[in-house]
Amino acid sequence: MNIRDPGRRRFLGLTATIAVLPLVPGLPATAAPAKLPKLTDANPVAKGLGYSENAASVKHAMYKPGSTCANCAQFKPVAGDAAYGLCTLFPQNTVASKGWCSAWAKKA
Ligand code: SF4
Repeated sequence: MNIRDPGRRRFLGLTATIAVLPLVPGLPATAAPAKLPKLTDANPVAKGLGYSENAASVKHAMYKPGSTCANCAQFKPVAGDAAYGLCTLFPQNTVASKGWCSAWAKKA
């Protein structure tokens, strides 16, 4: 393939642009998750798992002091939002970093 080929040059330019986009300041790393609604105990699965936005107030028998969503294996932080993140159990919502549910598992 000839480097002077206009189609190849356009392809290489587009590829370079896509590769650099995540490095542009001001572009959110994860824009969509921040728009997800916060998980509440109105969600039947959350209610069943004893989810609370405030682990400090949890009275559940399985609760271990110090365990929160932020140190759970299912939790993924969202860039620019320390208070809420993503949980693999609740893909339609964000969960509170200080929250907890009975599916908590220690992050490795
Ligand atoms: Fe929080 Fe972990 Fe329960 Fe998800 S599984 S709600 S991150 S404690």
